[in-house]
Amino acid sequence: AAAATRWVYDFADGSREMRDLLGGKGANVAEMTRILGAERVPAGFTITTEACVAYMQGDKAFPDGLDGQVAEALGRLEAAAGKRLGDPEDPLLVSVRSGARESMPGMLDTVLNLGLNDASVAGLAARTGNERFAWDSYRRFVQMYGNVVLGIEGERFEDAIQAIKQDRGVTEDTDLDRAALEELTRTFQGFYDFPSDPQDQLRGAIQAVFDSWMGRRAVEYRRINRIPEDWGTAVNVQQMVFGNKGDTSGSGVAFSRDEVTGEPEPSGDFLPNAQGEDVVSGVRTPRDIRELKDWQPEVHAQLFEILRTLEAHYGDMQDTEFTVEEGRLYMLQTRNAKRPAQAAVRFAVDAVGEGLLDKGQAIATIEAEKLDALLHPTFDPDVTYEVLARGVAASPGAAKGAIVFTAEDAVAAAADDRAVVLVRPFTEAEDVAGFHAAQGVLTSEGGKASHAALVARGMGVPAVTGAGTLEIDVRAGEVRLDGAVVLREGDLIAIDGTTGTVTTDDVVLIDPVMSDEFRTVLAWCDELRRLDVRTNADTPEDAVKAREFGAQGIGLCRTEHMFFGEDRHDKMVRVILADGDEERRSALAELLPLQQGDFEGIFAAMDGLPVTIRLLDPPLHEFLPKLHDVEAQAERARIERSDDLDHLEHTLDRVRSLQEVNPMLGTRGVRLGILYPAIYEMQLEGIFRALLAARAAGTDVHVEVMVPLVDYERELELLRGLIERVGAAHDLVAGRDYLIGTMIELPRACLLADWIAHEADFFSFGTNDLTQTALGFSRDDIEGRILARYIEMKVFDRSPFETLDAPGVGQLVRMGAWLGRKTKAGLKLGVCGEHGGDPDSIDFFHHSGIDYVSCSPYRVPVARVAAAQAAV
Ligand code: ADP
Ligand code: MG
Ligand code: MG
Repeated sequence: AAAATRWVYDFADGSREMRDLLGGKGANVAEMTRILGAERVPAGFTITTEACVAYMQGDKAFPDGLDGQVAEALGRLEAAAGKRLGDPEDPLLVSVRSGARESMPGMLDTVLNLGLNDASVAGLAARTGNERFAWDSYRRFVQMYGNVVLGIEGERFEDAIQAIKQDRGVTEDTDLDRAALEELTRTFQGFYDFPSDPQDQLRGAIQAVFDSWMGRRAVEYRRINRIPEDWGTAVNVQQMVFGNKGDTSGSGVAFSRDEVTGEPEPSGDFLPNAQGEDVVSGVRTPRDIRELKDWQPEVHAQLFEILRTLEAHYGDMQDTEFTVEEGRLYMLQTRNAKRPAQAAVRFAVDAVGEGLLDKGQAIATIEAEKLDALLHPTFDPDVTYEVLARGVAASPGAAKGAIVFTAEDAVAAAADDRAVVLVRPFTEAEDVAGFHAAQGVLTSEGGKASHAALVARGMGVPAVTGAGTLEIDVRAGEVRLDGAVVLREGDLIAIDGTTGTVTTDDVVLIDPVMSDEFRTVLAWCDELRRLDVRTNADTPEDAVKAREFGAQGIGLCRTEHMFFGEDRHDKMVRVILADGDEERRSALAELLPLQQGDFEGIFAAMDGLPVTIRLLDPPLHEFLPKLHDVEAQAERARIERSDDLDHLEHTLDRVRSLQEVNPMLGTRGVRLGILYPAIYEMQLEGIFRALLAARAAGTDVHVEVMVPLVDYERELELLRGLIERVGAAHDLVAGRDYLIGTMIELPRACLLADWIAHEADFFSFGTNDLTQTALGFSRDDIEGRILARYIEMKVFDRSPFETLDAPGVGQLVRMGAWLGRKTKAGLKLGVCGEHGGDPDSIDFFHHSGIDYVSCSPYRVPVARVAAAQAAV
């Protein structure tokens, strides 16, 4: 018979390397047990993620051997603890905790105080001599079990607690006495059929944790965070320690450094006389971790020491959960802290300074993608505005928009491109989609560790939480201040998640200044990376911005935008409608000085750096009026016998003749250059004149003329002839004064790149069009329908237009690079297109021998970091 699968590992047998099998929480609890000692971490065991996967595949049946292995592990735990589950004299209580490979805060389920029933509660009370504590634990268990395992609405329990507090005339949960707690326990037990046998309780809780993996919240969270569904969650069964035993007990969360700013001081919250869920749920207002010192100095010193130890051990900022039972500190969880970009950058710089990490390691701790947030707007500090409320600066960045009260409304607004701020008393897992859709999030409850804060920081969405003076009434659709309605749905609100302020003024949001730490990190990245980073810029303003962000040139200057400007559009229309070459040339002559001016501005901004200019690419009809408009005009002119009729009919003919069924696969790119050479000639004339003018003005110009959409080497050969002819008229020589290259954006060009390379000084992979043509997907058409469904059905896990399809399109890129260099060893290779700013794609390009990526100005810093991460 095949060896039985091992489904269960004691904490003592695990380690951080076993994360995939034991989940993040289980692996780290095991690791902490090893490095901090068994007396700091309550004992227990982990049921593997594989067991969960087997359970899901086996139609919700426990896999063979699981029950037996759990019973054995429980036996070992009981022996070690010297207590038995359900023992009426001295019961062992356990928590049953979920824990996936990657943390999914609050998405999966946890049950505390398992093992209590009417008999064991008496034993617990007798053993501890603390009746109130025993009943508090029991009432918590019955509540959590009903809510988590049996899905009874949390509100029913909360309402009952409110009612009894009112009845007893107390405000805090902690003021409820033993009798009240017993009464509550009985009330809760009336909500469902409570299983008193602890073995049934355990089995039910394990099953509930497995099931929570497929719960709606978790599914939604995974979709947004791209966590594979087939990972499954582990289940941790752990001996309880009690933070609710009285005034020398408590629970809290602690970060090894400030989780918002990254400052090298631990931060966090704790609550005396509480179990862990009280801190996170926000039912009571927690105290700052620094106050631990006044509460129990010994515990404070131990905890801060442990935070340092863990940080050094993991080489990363830690996010921990702890409980103090009658003055004794227990660590319940640690993980690398999710943090906003500013904290990530600050940590990286400090960690190198402290000798904790080397530069490469430090840079690897940063999530490049999130750095975008550091370039996000803030409130203009020079403008005064009226503060409506202040809350916790929970996630940095400023946001402005119309108020919505529900996630659905936020999602609907995003679909119509409306800027909204999601305003709620607090948020829950089901609101997560709204975070994505909103510009920012505002809550009236909860601190830095609340759900809203955690999720917003994780997503890089600005958030202010705990703006407690605001009364947010979702049902009425109102926000009240001191009882008076101040805002309604749709009203403008602005929040600054960096400072925690809220205002209704239409404040100006300004671009941020780059911090010294960020500059330092970027400088380190520049030392480490091999890929150059250029920018896509069509205007001198974008070029200047990108240069500030460290762009090493322009990798793509699209010239079509230059024809849409007010002063040019009419001229371009004349070019296209022209009857003959003569007429076309005269219209082009008017465009020439404008084009020249555009290029001069860009050359000046990019003094000393390469500028790749792509000749006109889009189909001509994009510049023309819509066919049905012209038809309608002509029809009217006919009826009115207007003098314009001849002219309109001519226009109509031209517009008709330019119609194409598939314009994106029609007369565009190099095909335009071959069919209508006069347009490219004018562009080249403008480029070369600008080159000479800029040179005369002392600018160091490096022009790279790029021909789009080349399929055949002959196309490029023809274009090279044209370009060199125009250049020669100005005494400019290709290879000396400027370069000639091509976009590689069609599969044939990748497959025959060795031929094309004969005519090219450089290649730039246009991965947008290459993705469209290799996959046969039109980017604009898959966005709405196909994309979402394909992700859901696991055809792919993210859009191929966001992250390069490495196996398919990437294969073409590599082939193109290799063949190109076979012909010309030193051929310069770049990538332009969205993928040039995507960290995962950048990693692929680094490993494909590409020389540079080009991305939008705001992505340049992200790309510099991603390029360094690819290199270390
Ligand atoms: P989550 O993943 O949602 O944070 P956890 O499994 O970490 O869920 O449990 C939440 C909280 O429950 C912990 O932070 C801790 O305070 C409390 N808790 C879990 N296990 C124990 C335990 N063995 N003893 C005491 N408290 C516990
Ligand atoms: Mg936890
Ligand atoms: Mg293209």
